[in-house]
Amino acid sequence: MSFSNLGLSDPILTSLAELGYSSPTPIQAEAIPLALKGKNLIAAAQTGSGKTATFVLPMLEMLARGENQRKKRIRALILTPTRELAVQVCTSIEAYGKYLNLKALAVYGGVDYGPQKQALIEGIDIVVATPGRLRDLYTQRSIHFDEIEMLVLDEADRMLDMGFIEDITKIIDTLPEDRQNLLFSATLSRQVRELAKETIPNAIQLSV
Ligand code: AMP
Repeated sequence: MSFSNLGLSDPILTSLAELGYSSPTPIQAEAIPLALKGKNLIAAAQTGSGKTATFVLPMLEMLARGENQRKKRIRALILTPTRELAVQVCTSIEAYGKYLNLKALAVYGGVDYGPQKQALIEGIDIVVATPGRLRDLYTQRSIHFDEIEMLVLDEADRMLDMGFIEDITKIIDTLPEDRQNLLFSATLSRQVRELAKETIPNAIQLSV
């Protein structure tokens, strides 16, 4: 199995080859073709399984296909539990998307609002955010969700453990209904499955 069998296009295949990724991990092989078809997915995936590329690659592919209609509003949103993970996911987006003209921004609390707001004004395609700061920016009307086509909940169990449930559901309530949803969690606990049931219709559950 190689990445070219999964339905990814040349700019992404080139960056993967440069990174030395020769074949997809099991979760990537199972999830990427389904995600490229626009399916909603729920996956039990640990750190180290290659889960980040599992959602970033189809996201980049989807955004690159629609690049001509580029608007200045965000088209994909990734929620993460911590600032460190948000920054790490952003770094992965930049690496995998090296040959695409897409901009990603990490948004997290504990720092000034100014630079994040300025970057949003200049135009960002993908926001990787911790839930609290994202909700603040939305309340302040500094971020607009009306062009969002894809939502990823990364490490959903950790976000729930950290008490982000209200922020997450409030954010999801404001997103366009016609969007694709991907949820990743180390464990598919009862709470995670409840969140998925409430927010992600018709999801396919993967467990690799
Ligand atoms: P993650 O599970 O997303 O935290 O990824 C774990 C590590 O595996 C990261 O350092 C990735 O760069 C690396 N990685 C992800 N997918 C692949 C792959 N298909 N081949 C080689 N390395 C990979």
